[in-house]
Amino acid sequence: MTPIYGELKNGKRLVLTPASEIKPRAAKPIPNAPAIDVWKNRSHPGCYIVEVQCPHCPKTHTHGWLGSGDDGGHRVSHCGQDDKPNPGYYIEIPESWHSKYPGKLSS
Ligand SMILES: [Zn+2]
Repeated sequence: MTPIYGELKNGKRLVLTPASEIKPRAAKPIPNAPAIDVWKNRSHPGCYIVEVQCPHCPKTHTHGWLGSGDDGGHRVSHCGQDDKPNPGYYIEIPESWHSKYPGKLSS
C-alpha cells in the first residue's frame, strides 16, 4: 500500500502511520517468570523461597512459595517503580518441584 508522507519544517519527509493501522492500546500481557532456584525458608518452617528470573529486568527476584500444590501465581515484580510500573509476572514453578518439595497445601 502507498505510504503517506508527512513533512517536517526543514523539508525532511517521514512516513506516517494511517490512523486505521494504529492499534488500540491494549492491556499489557503478563509474562511468566521461570523459577530457577528454591531453598527452605528458615523463618517460616515448611515454606520455601523461590528465585525467579525477572522478565522485566536482568535480575532475579525472590518470593515465598508454599511448596507442592502452590502454582506460584501472579506476583508484583520488585523492580517495578512508580514512574515505570510493570504488570508483574506469573511465577512458573517447574513441574518436578511439586513432587520434590512437599507443601502445606498438598497435605
Ligand atoms: Zn525485575
